Amino acid sequence: MRSEQKSLEEALESLNEVSELACPNDGFLDQLKLFEEMGFKVDTSSPFYKRFRLKLLGKSYKSGEKIGSYMFQDDPGLSPLPGCCQDPSKTEHNKTAYRCRKCRRIIAVEDNVISHVPGEGESCFDWNRRKSGRSYNNKEQYCSSLFIEPLKWMTPVEEGALEGKLSCIHCGARLGYFNWSGIQCNCGSWVTPAFQIGKSKVDISII
Ligand SMILES: [Zn+2]
Ligand SMILES: [Zn+2]
Repeated sequence: MRSEQKSLEEALESLNEVSELACPNDGFLDQLKLFEEMGFKVDTSSPFYKRFRLKLLGKSYKSGEKIGSYMFQDDPGLSPLPGCCQDPSKTEHNKTAYRCRKCRRIIAVEDNVISHVPGEGESCFDWNRRKSGRSYNNKEQYCSSLFIEPLKWMTPVEEGALEGKLSCIHCGARLGYFNWSGIQCNCGSWVTPAFQIGKSKVDISII
């Protein structure tokens, strides 16, 4: 696929020409499709990759695997802040950060956000839909929730609960909920699994 820049369908067609018995399993097909969408390279910062990874994590949880915090992304509130140096003219590292409204601790940065297509339910995860998904992103401002990937401060998640509250690790303020079976955003979309933060609980700042 990479050498000929073929789409998954094209690659499968030529595979079938060679052998009618060739039938890659679904999981492998999903990975190939992901590979295509990321432009024939593995880009771990791509939103496609993040959603894919979260889905896999959800599958592991449902099959009874123990979910350890090592599978979670680093707590952005603990990492050294990029672009916080004295030079404010350095804008290229500026990132959107979400802070607890009560104590201002950083709870997530833009890289942790799992985007969804407002109002499209599970179909927003359909492979074909994803391509047009980006143009919908600006509508997400009407969503009252932010969905993020599991982070290391989410201790109840680590303890293995199916669902529960997410609270600020610093001041204990309630921030949102998580549910491995999914949460419906106010726009109608289901996000599964879901680590949801109420936008009214956080302040947005640039770091
Ligand atoms: Zn939404
Ligand atoms: Zn707090």
